[in-house]
Amino acid sequence: MNKIKVAFLDRDGTITKEYQDEEWENKTIPEFLQGTLPALKKITDLGYKIIIITNQGLISQGIIKLEDYEKYTENLIKELKKNKIEVLDIFFCPHTKEENCNCKKPKPGMILEACKKYDIDIDKSFVAGDRTSDEGLAKYFNMTFFGVNYTSKNPKNKRVKNLEEIIQYLE
Ligand SMILES: [Mg+2]
Ligand SMILES: [Zn+2]
Repeated sequence: MNKIKVAFLDRDGTITKEYQDEEWENKTIPEFLQGTLPALKKITDLGYKIIIITNQGLISQGIIKLEDYEKYTENLIKELKKNKIEVLDIFFCPHTKEENCNCKKPKPGMILEACKKYDIDIDKSFVAGDRTSDEGLAKYFNMTFFGVNYTSKNPKNKRVKNLEEIIQYLE
């Protein structure tokens, strides 16, 4: 079987809206950022599988209840399906920095796990996100990185205003 190419996408601030920590309490309905839905559709039409990689340390901090995270995820998938967008998988890290896990971005754990589960062509894959931690994750695997409203110190990493702007750089 052929290896798959993957769009490793951050969730908050990249696909859907980011909030202040305390505002995350009881959030179960995702608000999509402008242009996200058509962009995700195009990314999959170009042959990329979508894997969402998200730090959710507020779970461990008790601000987000695990069941609310799961409801949010369910609603996210439902809304994407409605728009004919399939997500291959979602990995999340519920830990705080103090827990010193191996999955909190920029640590590689979530992508390593994805690589165990799927036959991924890392060289053809990319990461998009709005934080240094997303960039660090891409750097660990030497993957292409797109900063969503985020300027990297590395001029090789493109800044885009939203996911839609990524399309022009993809084959
Ligand atoms: Mg983010
Ligand atoms: Zn973790």
